[in-house]
Amino acid sequence: MAELSERAQRLMQPHLRAIEPYDPNFTHTRINLSANENTHPLPPRVQAAVDEALAATPLNRYPDPMSGELRNLIAAYAGVAREQVCVGNGGDELLYNFLLAFGGRGRQVLICPPCFTEYAFFAQLTETNVRAVGRDPRTFELDEESLITCARTSDLVIVTSPNNPTGDLADPGLIQRVCRACRGLVMVDEAYIEFAGKDASAAPLLDHLDNLVILRTLSKAFGAAGARCGYVLAAPDVIEAFSAIRQIYSVNVLTQAAACALFRARAELAPVVSGIVVERERLQRRLAALPNAVVWPSRANFLLVRLPNASTVRTRLRDEYSILVRDFSATTGLENCLRISVGTPEENDAVVAALTELLSKEA
Ligand SMILES: *Cc1c(COP(=O)(O)O)cnc(C)c1O
Repeated sequence: MAELSERAQRLMQPHLRAIEPYDPNFTHTRINLSANENTHPLPPRVQAAVDEALAATPLNRYPDPMSGELRNLIAAYAGVAREQVCVGNGGDELLYNFLLAFGGRGRQVLICPPCFTEYAFFAQLTETNVRAVGRDPRTFELDEESLITCARTSDLVIVTSPNNPTGDLADPGLIQRVCRACRGLVMVDEAYIEFAGKDASAAPLLDHLDNLVILRTLSKAFGAAGARCGYVLAAPDVIEAFSAIRQIYSVNVLTQAAACALFRARAELAPVVSGIVVERERLQRRLAALPNAVVWPSRANFLLVRLPNASTVRTRLRDEYSILVRDFSATTGLENCLRISVGTPEENDAVVAALTELLSKEA
């Protein structure tokens, strides 16, 4: 990948010079199952409600900096008080703000790779040191005892539940133990929690753990990745710290309007989410039946699959079938692994059919 010019590097802060420009790999394909978006169109009534809200939003005024109406809706949805909610320009902004506010030089954030790569990136931007506790190389299960032990001496912990890209859920009981072990804040990244079912969320623990931070997004189950809206749930004083350091207008008027409409219509979105869960189980069975494939169980809207020659398979899927999936072959522990988002039934059939052809040819 292209590096920054020497001149640009000299102009930058020393700790930022080694950063490689992001390669978005934005190939346009017929079917895109690479970014864990919700690929279903919004139900017509929900789409109409969003369109109406956007049309009624004037652009000449600055947004409500505290997103009062949206926070009320999120609080009601999540079962917390409005003072326990902060919104951001996607979950990514809140992850960055988490490390900006509570990490930084001389502090350590503990993560459990393989996990979301943005954690290490934002740690680098904010000069936060990264510590890692591993997972079982075969099942990807968290090493619970090491996690608790390391949490005792880390300033921050991030646990992803369900984890991206391995799909496994962290038990709320474990989260409670991590929160008790860590003297700083523990973030549970619940970007995919709506696909994991009732009782999967650690949010009820907020009632008695004041160092727990829950991160969520509208990019996955809510089908609004393009709107860039995420939120955190935490104790009111932690939310005040998030609010104090945020860019006050980062959640624009159109995003606030669309997000409010989506939260109001969430009952109509629920069948889309349960349909994706049904498809996930069907796709898992079909992928597992491919020759020499290993598929891990997933509580999210994607599946991790290990296949012979995965990188070649991924390139041929893109070039010969116009289907995009994500290749994790270069990640330690994920050799020959592809991550495939669960799409519509038609999209899932197409990717299975293409893989069946490619793998029988390769064999
Ligand atoms: C998608 C995702 C997010 C947040 O994404 P945004 O689009 O920035 O809201 C956060 N964490 C994980 C693990 C994700 O996969």
